[in-house]
Amino acid sequence: MTVLANERIAYFNGNYVPEREVVVSFRDASFIGGDAGFDTTRTFNKRIFKLDEHLDRFYRTLRYLDIDPGLSKAEMKAISIEVFERNRHLLGPDEDYWLSQRVTRGQDKWAADGVATPTVIVECQALPYAKRAPLYRDGIEVIVPSIRRTPPDALSPQAKTHNYLNLIMADREVKAHNPKAWAVLLDAYGNLTEGLGSNLFLVSDGRLLTPRTHFVLPGISRQTVYELAEDLGIPLVEKDIDLFDAYNADEAFLTSTSLCICPVKSINGRKPADKGIPGPVTKRLLDAYSRLVDCDIAGQYLKHLKD
Ligand code: PLP
Repeated sequence: MTVLANERIAYFNGNYVPEREVVVSFRDASFIGGDAGFDTTRTFNKRIFKLDEHLDRFYRTLRYLDIDPGLSKAEMKAISIEVFERNRHLLGPDEDYWLSQRVTRGQDKWAADGVATPTVIVECQALPYAKRAPLYRDGIEVIVPSIRRTPPDALSPQAKTHNYLNLIMADREVKAHNPKAWAVLLDAYGNLTEGLGSNLFLVSDGRLLTPRTHFVLPGISRQTVYELAEDLGIPLVEKDIDLFDAYNADEAFLTSTSLCICPVKSINGRKPADKGIPGPVTKRLLDAYSRLVDCDIAGQYLKHLKD
């Protein structure tokens, strides 16, 4: 098939193909049951960030799911770099990619011998700068939905799987109240956990507070904040935090691969102490993150601001 000059290339079961040729069967375990693992890193100024850390987490997810991708971590790394290189020229000056690896359990039920052949996809897409730019100007409005985060004794939140329904339903609930809001879910005991693709931090009396790892995805950006906080001498505590802590916080922010660090404007309409967007501690960390990745994170988003 001819590859169009502006068409992205993805890796699909052993081949590099135009994205339109990545066609997954409706009998695939991921389509039927969300039975797959994935991970997503991003680029900064066209350089891939913490690929090894993302692949380590990816392979922990696959091991938990008991899915063998049929590729070593080193092979997955080489494929990921190749996918990025094949698509690099499509990026505009102030753009970067999400770069994702996805492995599904395949079609075991339907295979003649009952043995699953995993479906393997590595793909990239441009980060949604314009859509998210206002968040760096205004901060994120967090709403806590009634739906509770899946507990670790049901399905470990430490695994990054294709089954996001718990988080999607929670996000839909809050967006029905406020289309701009982002959900951060409580666990069954009323402790704050995480959102649809992001970890939560509170700043309280000069300390960072964040939920315990057992109950959330161990975000690579969250880990980066741990490292930056240590460098900056900002104490950080992993603990159970609830709405009492949130309403008493001085600042709050979310972390994720795409956002890195993004200030929270309010939680359930309640504003953290009026320290500005971003608050001083959030700003120190965001500046340090920008230095680490050699990219003005908020500035890059704000360049895409439309209104
Ligand atoms: N929590 C969940 C449920 C996620 O899906 C993600 C990101 O994909 C995160 C947290 C943040 O993780 P990271 O910083 O690695 O993007």
